[in-house]
Amino acid sequence: MHFTEPVYRHPYWPTWPLIEITQGCSHNRCEFCTMYRDVRFGVKPMEVIESDLAEIAQDMPRAKTIQLLSGDPLALPYSKLVQVMENIHEYLPDIERIYAVCRVDNFRNKTVDELMSLHELGLEEVSLGIESGNDWTLDRVNKGYLAKDVPEQCAKLDEAGIKYWLTFMNGIAGHEHSHNHAVHTADVFNRCNPSTVYVTSLALFPGTPLLADAEHGEFDPLSEKSLLVELRTLLEHLDTDCALVTHHTASLNLSTPDFLRDKERILDETIENGNIELLTLKRSLKTGL
Ligand code: SF4
Repeated sequence: MHFTEPVYRHPYWPTWPLIEITQGCSHNRCEFCTMYRDVRFGVKPMEVIESDLAEIAQDMPRAKTIQLLSGDPLALPYSKLVQVMENIHEYLPDIERIYAVCRVDNFRNKTVDELMSLHELGLEEVSLGIESGNDWTLDRVNKGYLAKDVPEQCAKLDEAGIKYWLTFMNGIAGHEHSHNHAVHTADVFNRCNPSTVYVTSLALFPGTPLLADAEHGEFDPLSEKSLLVELRTLLEHLDTDCALVTHHTASLNLSTPDFLRDKERILDETIENGNIELLTLKRSLKTGL
């Protein structure tokens, strides 16, 4: 198998087999992310993809699911993705569901009809690292798109029948913009139909511009208590029928398959039961601060 480090596989989908069709991230400029900093974005040659599929077919000839890697494999144009998916079905005829982590702007250059045919070829669910629905925040961390792009592109996924996760990054806006970050993100997510809202929280990793800004007093990270207040604000305003996953080690475990059913209970628990000391300790073990 040909994998380029680092390999990220979405932990909530079947994690094997995996097939790398791109390497790195086509954007690679988010100010909090070092994941693919040293990897140049590239597309795997089809013969390499085919040789990996042949290897998977030997080990798991009856595989029913597969994850496309790496950072944003759906950056590939439609025609190339069709080729990849047709090859997947040729080598693994029982494949029913194909998954991929991607950027929301991967869909700008794809029509609803094209997305429908990718869905027919097995594209079941994608995970979108949105992080925020607040334009100031998106610009601050250089995400490379605007809040309005999110419902616009997600409507195309809805029409095509492709399910999607939307990620909220707790703490990414810093103190001053925390409230707007939470409220605007809830508003954007409410205009979409995510299968799951996934809450991660900001870790200031060494080597990131955001950590350098924090060290120079130009970014004001949230305390654990403020992170919980921000999370609570998001959840108060969130009103979409979805699952909620908040398993990040620096967050609380408030996950539920039915957010609207459990919303009131979760709101009660978000701040009341937060072990601030434990959360602060966990974060200090992870970050450069
Ligand atoms: S789009 Fe994702 S992988 Fe790429 S730089 Fe931003 S956070 Fe990192």
